[in-house]
Amino acid sequence: MEKSSISIFDENYKQIISNIARAAEKSGRKYEDITLLAATKTVDVDVINHAIKSGVEFIGENRVQEFLSKYNDYAPSHKHFIGHLQSNKVKDIIDKVELIHSVDSYKLAAEISKQAVKKGLSIDVLLEINIGNEQSKSGFLYDEACDAVGKIAQLDGIKIKGLMAIPPICENSDQNRVYFSKMKKLFIDIGHKKIDNSSMDILSMGMSDDYEAAIEEGANMIRLGTALFGRRNYNI
Ligand SMILES: *Cc1c(COP(=O)(O)O)cnc(C)c1O
Repeated sequence: MEKSSISIFDENYKQIISNIARAAEKSGRKYEDITLLAATKTVDVDVINHAIKSGVEFIGENRVQEFLSKYNDYAPSHKHFIGHLQSNKVKDIIDKVELIHSVDSYKLAAEISKQAVKKGLSIDVLLEINIGNEQSKSGFLYDEACDAVGKIAQLDGIKIKGLMAIPPICENSDQNRVYFSKMKKLFIDIGHKKIDNSSMDILSMGMSDDYEAAIEEGANMIRLGTALFGRRNYNI
């Protein structure tokens, strides 16, 4: 086990806990109202398990192959899938993850439904919203999100638990607030519609550079990689 990665984590984690608490208070909530998910791509399982032992209960991987290669070694934890998921890989992870954050098309939702039914499972998902209307990104557009929830909620073996977004890269976190607050509004609006077989419980947004702004604007789940584990050696 690399000592330095462990001490980097320990230091970062302490600071992040107090940052989350402060941001939560600013939006009338408490630390406990925010779920911290560690985005663990490229992080060694030893370090991930140290994080779990230290109190991080939720982890998220964004590549199927990497997730499967680590799967048997993770300490007990809530395992989420947070990256782009190809339809043909759904069957590989469907019985191993608690929540898929990144349902970005009807086609993917239909495949999750098909595989879930085959295995007699009910799979919790979030719909990924392309909140910045970016051509390079997948996900549902703001204006189509409500219809997408209605349509996907009708599929068997799938349960919509909320929304996820990765806003456009901005120069500072304050520029992202507009996107975060749009997401919050969408989350509330869809929640009010009380669509059968869906509930707006989880609003997953905010990463290392902007998680405090995301929390202040209403996120209740944040996904942190770099802020917890330090800079990675290579890009993903
Ligand atoms: C890597 C990743 C994160 C965390 O990114 P950081 O900027 O390192 O905090 C969050 N969400 C997804 C989907 C990711 O792939």
